[in-house]
Amino acid sequence: MADKGLLIVLSGPSGAGKGTICKALLNRQKFWLSVSATTREPRKGEIPEQSYHYITKDQFKTKIKNDDFLEYAEVYGNFYGTPKSSAIEKIEKGENVILEIDIQGALKVKENYPEGIFIFILPPSMEELKKRIIGRGSETAESLVTRFKAAYKEVNYVSKYNYAVINDTVEEAVSKIESIIVAERCRVDRMKDKILDSKEGIIHERFYD
Ligand code: ADP
Ligand code: 5GP
Repeated sequence: MADKGLLIVLSGPSGAGKGTICKALLNRQKFWLSVSATTREPRKGEIPEQSYHYITKDQFKTKIKNDDFLEYAEVYGNFYGTPKSSAIEKIEKGENVILEIDIQGALKVKENYPEGIFIFILPPSMEELKKRIIGRGSETAESLVTRFKAAYKEVNYVSKYNYAVINDTVEEAVSKIESIIVAERCRVDRMKDKILDSKEGIIHERFYD
């Protein structure tokens, strides 16, 4: 049977660089990026079914009723949810799955799937965060204020995560995440089947003389 894949959860305030980092990671190695459902309007340049599954509030409610989400949350006035079946299926098949989700969602996933790798993306400073989110040009004035206000609260949640990555340059941030993944793969509790013969910690016979 194939080794299970890793579940990598990336969160952080709006504008921290999660989307940019995910894209760069996907260009370098094979991950399966979960596509969320959302009730928010598509932004210019976003591609339906690739960026998000854009659905109505009623459709979202139906999905909640049908238990279709691994997690969902209301973020900055819109609903976002991670489709359940595909992410779990991919992990079981040995693929590394990335979720790019908000903090409420990440904490729900952590409760149900503590073996996930929870990474918080931080901006170099709040000033730089503001510059980057304004520079992205995606938000209305109202949405900018909502996102900035939320950011000051959100950064405090970094302590609930396993790792913090400061997004100074995209290249460095991506390289740190790749290092985290390599280290996680080498954790004894993930390698048990390869190096131990039993739960008592008896070493696998391949290491006998
Ligand atoms: P998020 O997905 O966390 O909301 P984005 O990935 O959309 O954030 O990044 C917000 C803006 O900041 C984008 O315009 C992006 O191009 C820019 N950006 C992201 N990372 C960096 C970086 N390391 N240096 C400079 N600009 C960045
Ligand atoms: P945006 O509107 O900028 O694309 O996303 C707003 C916030 O919602 C970001 O923090 C993003 O990570 C988060 N988000 C995107 N998809 C999901 C999801 O499926 N679940 C949760 N909980 N948050 C999500």
